[in-house]
Amino acid sequence: MYIPHVLGIFTENNFKIFQKMTPSKNTNGKVSKDIRDYKIVTLASHTALQILKGAKDEGFHTVAICPKGRRRPYESYGVADEIIEIESYEEFYKIDKELSEENAIMIPHGSFIAYLGHDSVKEVKMMYYGTRDILEWESDREMERKWLLNSKLNLPKIYKNPEDIDGPVIIKFHGAGGGHGYFLANTPEEFYRRIKDHPDLKRGYVIQEYIVGVPIYAHYFYSRLTGELEVMGFDKRYESNADSIGRISAKDQLEVGVETSYTITGNIPIVLRESLLPQIFEMGDNVVAESQKIAGEGLFGPFCLEMILDPNLKFNVFEISARIVAGTNPYTNGSPYTWLRYDVPMSTGRRIALDIRQAIEVGELGKVLG
Ligand code: ATP
Repeated sequence: MYIPHVLGIFTENNFKIFQKMTPSKNTNGKVSKDIRDYKIVTLASHTALQILKGAKDEGFHTVAICPKGRRRPYESYGVADEIIEIESYEEFYKIDKELSEENAIMIPHGSFIAYLGHDSVKEVKMMYYGTRDILEWESDREMERKWLLNSKLNLPKIYKNPEDIDGPVIIKFHGAGGGHGYFLANTPEEFYRRIKDHPDLKRGYVIQEYIVGVPIYAHYFYSRLTGELEVMGFDKRYESNADSIGRISAKDQLEVGVETSYTITGNIPIVLRESLLPQIFEMGDNVVAESQKIAGEGLFGPFCLEMILDPNLKFNVFEISARIVAGTNPYTNGSPYTWLRYDVPMSTGRRIALDIRQAIEVGELGKVLG
């Protein structure tokens, strides 16, 4: 059920982190436990609508930092108390400095990380929701794989040597937005034929076992305040043209020479077969536990396991996102799962704001900042 207050102790360590990150209003040594002294900020894109709406529902003042020309939806839906338009990175850093002096808390999402780049995120001056230590683990394919394998998850096999290809594989180019240029092969010969003269060859690539099954993206939330893992919902992506190829007969596909691409256009909600839920919880627990061994305070807040569920009902995890994912957008008003647990509509955006509110009110804000 919806419990707005969590008990917690204001440790000396938390207080030091907090003081370091909130230089302005609290120099008298007293940290405000009033959420009206704080602002929730995000970049106007990706999942900003539900983040801002959720923050408003929890009683926060909200700010959308808006790349020029994108303000219309944020105005129309009335989710932002302030809209600050920026034209460049330079302007972002100026705003960042100003907001950091106003007890602003930045909520990161995929577009924010992409906008600034993984390394620059570390330089953000505003208070930052979530852990920054984990970013390098998810941005480096090798490190990410190590993390997931040590979490005892089942991952698609990686082929180091093309000669070993003995079944369907997917070739993924590094940094390929939307799976651009990915292709499938079944034998070493097919691989060599298609990789030769490939325009993305210079980027480098990985040869991964192709799992025939259905994509499932599991949305989690782990709170350091409650120490509890929650399953928020599931989605699958709606990708062009991977999701439209089935509308054309195989004969026509061959004749027209359609290439598969995975450009994301939207997200489709999914309710999972209930008997699979225990496994989903266990996988989430393992990922959090392992993150606490490898990266500082470990992973907290929202995260997502991206996987293919095969006909033997085995989950094959091919990626983790250590933050809110756009697949939570169908659930602005809560998901079938959050409705079981909360008696108010609980989007992932609102769950973030609730975490922050509870942390502020018990003087444990350091626990949700990275
Ligand atoms: P992201 O934007 O999440 O960083 P991306 O769009 O570049 O990634 P992926 O998400 O890795 O690419 O994969 C694109 C598509 O390929 C997804 O639809 C996914 O379901 C599918 N896919 C990825 N890996 C596999 C695999 N090993 N077996 C089957 N399908 C896969």
